[in-house]
Amino acid sequence: MRIIPISLPTPFYVGPVNVYLIAEEPVTLIDTGPKTREALEALKEGLRRARLRVSDIRRIVLTHAHEDHCGLAKQLRDEAKDAQVFVHAWETGHRAGRLEYEEHRRLLERAGVPAEEVAQMRRMYEGVRQYADALEDHEHAELSDGEEIKFEKGALRVVHTPGHTPGSCSFLREADRTVIAGDCVLKRITPNPILSPDPVDPVRRFHSLAEYLVSLARLRSLSPTLVYGGHGEPVSDYEELFNRYLRAIGERQSEVIRLIPKAGATAWDVALELFPGAGDVHRFLAVSESVAHLDLAHSEGKLAVELSGDGREVYRRN
Ligand SMILES: [Zn+2]
Ligand SMILES: [Zn+2]
Repeated sequence: MRIIPISLPTPFYVGPVNVYLIAEEPVTLIDTGPKTREALEALKEGLRRARLRVSDIRRIVLTHAHEDHCGLAKQLRDEAKDAQVFVHAWETGHRAGRLEYEEHRRLLERAGVPAEEVAQMRRMYEGVRQYADALEDHEHAELSDGEEIKFEKGALRVVHTPGHTPGSCSFLREADRTVIAGDCVLKRITPNPILSPDPVDPVRRFHSLAEYLVSLARLRSLSPTLVYGGHGEPVSDYEELFNRYLRAIGERQSEVIRLIPKAGATAWDVALELFPGAGDVHRFLAVSESVAHLDLAHSEGKLAVELSGDGREVYRRN
């Protein structure tokens, strides 16, 4: 079973995205790229090099539902006629824009983000969502942890690796312990744990960074020999990356704790200190990053949190 990486252009800051073609029956595409003409052309060229066409695709498997990874899923599914789309049930972004949820507005307000900033983030997201078609419930099937995606020769095992998003999944080829990890593992950047409602209880927030640390350890327990990420080159030394991530996360956590003044601070205050120049979409990522680190520090007993009169969470050092 051969894994063929195909790099596709995206209109996003992150640069090109990697999708992975398994050119074996049933022909399977892992991630699709964003819904742009350029990405579709590059994908078709990649398929041609493997002597395939869109109509040969039988399965579309998504690592997660960010626009750069899932954008073309619906279009490819429709064009390939009876292709099936698979995504984890906790990945709800494919159905509607992430910032459209009431839950999201509530999470941002609780993090201290001013109402006009929330509105601005929402407008920004309106611009991003044009790069993906939403999938209706009946248009996809669910991936579950541990399940096998079978091929004529060999199989990929689904490993649920939440963190970057709640429903992020990785795929393990057990024969040589190769992993396709989406945005869970990126060679040059530490993935951002995105602020999300908890898929099980949407009033709460998903503990993205704590979950992410568990996912990183879980991948480590598989002793991967090669990890294909969603962006950039594959990682052959997972151990080095694992230690580097842990160091970076630890340093960021200390920094976040240091930034909290005596009087206390919200995640929004911390985000502004941490990323003073962050504009537009990066503001949302800055808030995500701050919330993730504050949640982790709080769960480790390093910070206390209380709700202010107007419903914002204020953190204080213990
Ligand atoms: Zn992503
Ligand atoms: Zn990505």
